[in-house]
This record gives sequence, structure tokens and C-alpha cells, in this order.
Amino acid sequence: MSVDRMMQFVRIPPRMPDKRPAEQRRRDFGEIYAEFTDAGAAEQASRCEQCGVPYCQVHCPLHNNIPDWLYMTANGRLREAYEIASSTNTFPEICGRICPQDRLCEGNCVLEQSGHGTVTIGAIERYITETAFREGWVEPIRPPRELPFSVGIIGAGPGGLACAEALRRRGYRVHVYDRYDRVGGLLIYGIPNFKLDKAVVRRRE
Ligand code: SF4
Repeated sequence: MSVDRMMQFVRIPPRMPDKRPAEQRRRDFGEIYAEFTDAGAAEQASRCEQCGVPYCQVHCPLHNNIPDWLYMTANGRLREAYEIASSTNTFPEICGRICPQDRLCEGNCVLEQSGHGTVTIGAIERYITETAFREGWVEPIRPPRELPFSVGIIGAGPGGLACAEALRRRGYRVHVYDRYDRVGGLLIYGIPNFKLDKAVVRRRE
């Protein structure tokens, strides 16, 4: 794999997206961070040094292929970036917002460990998936063949929904049941809007 446009950590410092103005947040209690611009995301992704042993990926519970989606983002190949990010993760836009990256991928990034400052992986993951939604790349699952079985899942929290996706990909008909009127479980009822806007969860219904 070429490393052109990568390894820019020697000249570009780590940067998160801008925070939304406090005056605005005080009125809507919405998310703290705005989204990266296209240029900002590409620039931050280009800081990655494409490690042979990527500790970001090793320490990700999903083993997300982070170096590859960073490479695609830095080189403007966002649809491929989204396909890579969503191949191991049912909700990359949600993990990009609420994962404890400082203890997982970002905390173990080689650049963080060597004092250069981590690649801002979570914010880039969010940017990639928000772009995918805007561009219409997030599509319903169409399994290669339908199986004559249906599965009921009790609990529409993130675990139940991820399970539903995995089974649907294999061709099962899936019904998810929950005691509450909205799907999402902890994502809806346990995480405040300033971390994860409810509309982001409901978009997946
Ligand atoms: S550990 Fe950091 S520098 Fe290395 S591949 Fe992962 S994000 Fe890139």
C-alpha cells in the first residue's frame, strides 16, 4: 500500500473538530462537537503512519481496520472508507461519538505513545459515516438469499440490534422486541444528547 499523503504527523498537530458555540449549546443541549470539514478530516487522517502492527486496531474491541479507513479518508476515497468502517461495526457513527477512544484506539495509537499526539480516530469515524448517510451510501441489508427461518430478539439495545444485523446478513427474518417504545436501549435512555443526539440513533430505525 502506498503511503503518499500519509505520515504527516511530523508537520500537522492533532486537532479535534471545533466545538459548537456554548451559546448555541445552552439553547439546544445538543452535541458538543461539530463535524470535521472535508479538508479537516483528510488532514487529520493523513497524520497516520500506517503502522505495520497497528495498536489502534489491536486495542479496538471490534478490531476495526482503522489504518485502512484513515488511508482512504486521507486520499478522498470516502465510500471505500465507509465500507471498511461498516464491515466490522453496525454503528460506526455511534462508536465514533461514544467509544472511550482515549483508553482504546486513540490511547494506544503509536503516535500518542511516542508523544506526537494521537490520530483523532473517533471524530474521523463519525465524519466518514455522516458523509455516508448524506451521500445515500447507507442502504438496507439485502442478503444474498432468504432463509426460511425467523428469529426473535428480546431487547433493542445495541447488542440486540447488532445481533439482528448479523442474522439479517445471513438471510434470517428478524423481529426485535423491546419493553420500551423506542429502539436503542442504553443509546436512547442512558446517554445524554450532548454526547449522542437521539436523532442519530433513530435514523437507524
Ligand atoms: S496506531 Fe496510530 S499511527 Fe498507527 S496505524 Fe493506528 S492510527 Fe495510524
